[in-house]
Amino acid sequence: MNAVLTVLGSGTSMGVPTIGCDCAVCQSSDPRDRRTRPSVLLEYAGKVVLIDSTPDFREQAIREKIRRLDAVLYTHTHADHILGIDDLRPLSFRHKPNKLPLYARPRDAAFIRNMFRYIFDADYKFGGLPQVELRVIEGPVELFGARFEPVPVIHGEAEIWGFRFGSAAYLTDHSEVPESSIAQLQNLDILFLDALRYKPHPTHSTVENSLKIVERVKPKRAFFTHICHDLPHEATNVSLPHGAQLAYDGMKLEFEI
Ligand SMILES: [Zn+2]
Ligand SMILES: [Zn+2]
Ligand SMILES: [Zn+2]
Repeated sequence: MNAVLTVLGSGTSMGVPTIGCDCAVCQSSDPRDRRTRPSVLLEYAGKVVLIDSTPDFREQAIREKIRRLDAVLYTHTHADHILGIDDLRPLSFRHKPNKLPLYARPRDAAFIRNMFRYIFDADYKFGGLPQVELRVIEGPVELFGARFEPVPVIHGEAEIWGFRFGSAAYLTDHSEVPESSIAQLQNLDILFLDALRYKPHPTHSTVENSLKIVERVKPKRAFFTHICHDLPHEATNVSLPHGAQLAYDGMKLEFEI
């Protein structure tokens, strides 16, 4: 099945430009140096699936003219990946009397339910709530004829999920991709990896480290995301080997799902 992936956001948790920063990347006029928080949108079979709802979801949805959402999948519950839940409202209303399903692991679903109690607590009477429902998943899930397979990755102290879907995989936050997960990344057309910057970080991958993963996994196309203001788009891309490049907000890729 043909699918289109849109990079809604390619930035790290603080986004680029970063508040209060006067560095060259934060002041760059290249639109690819403007990075909202990390998320991708998948369109196939007339359906639209979102991976993570960031604090920038509203801006991303307006920019990409998103007209519908059929499901949301969560990689983990850090603020930069979930804080846009309230902005799912306009698209969730289209599901009435049903609800927009949000898929998450048991502990992530519990965290979201607790953090957004006003949405999920039936006693809370407040107008204009997102019409969403949590669906707990512990493994692969089939959505509209496509299989989404969790790919466990190490993100600092925590194990979180990336996803493989068809010929593509999206691993957004990781300091390490365990051996068992490397095995899930064979024969990929598209591989997204975390590449925060060059300097090591306790919970994120670096350009150098992610290039090593690309060398091992050998996808046809590799894209780096969750990028901070240390990496100017143009200059960094020129330095990357053939087949690997930085993602940017608004990038669209066709693939088989
Ligand atoms: Zn993140
Ligand atoms: Zn900066
Ligand atoms: Zn994170």
